[in-house]
Amino acid sequence: MSNEQTFIAIKPDGVQRGLVGPIISRFEQRGFKLVAMKLCSPSKEHLEKHYADLSGKPFFNGLVTYMLSGPIVAMVWEGREVVKTGRAILGATNPLASPPGTIRGDYAIDVGRNVCHGSDSVENAKKEIALWFNENELISYKQAQFDWIYEKA
Ligand code: UDP
Ligand code: MG
Repeated sequence: MSNEQTFIAIKPDGVQRGLVGPIISRFEQRGFKLVAMKLCSPSKEHLEKHYADLSGKPFFNGLVTYMLSGPIVAMVWEGREVVKTGRAILGATNPLASPPGTIRGDYAIDVGRNVCHGSDSVENAKKEIALWFNENELISYKQAQFDWIYEKA
């Protein structure tokens, strides 16, 4: 399936540190298709919903405060196995455990300042995309380079 979708976000530290371009480039250069993108400042309630699965964790309040500390770039990327591959492009949750060549391994040190988010399963990607975007914000188009990236659709 070359139309799998994932939710990728550049967190406030990534935006403030000027990493929007480099992070987007990694997904573009790999061959994935950008389907939606916006710079936004979501509410506390929205971010608590996004991270609802982690509400019992000791770092939850700090995480929500971090996510509220500045604008976020929210995106949807599409392509074959983009959920799993997107996580590989991001790297490990703890940047110090993330090898060079990954976004976190190249640009971050602390787990609480790890510059990016990516959905961890196809099911969660669907939920996150629905939370962050209206259906009319997801743009349908043919990627001009599609046949140069995929042998078969
Ligand atoms: N986080 C943290 N301390 C931890 C674990 C996670 O501050 O010990 C933050 C970190 O920003 C991470 C986010 O919580 O990206 C969500 O955690 P999750 O386990 O879902 O990691 P991810 O899916 O982002 O790799
Ligand atoms: Mg996660």
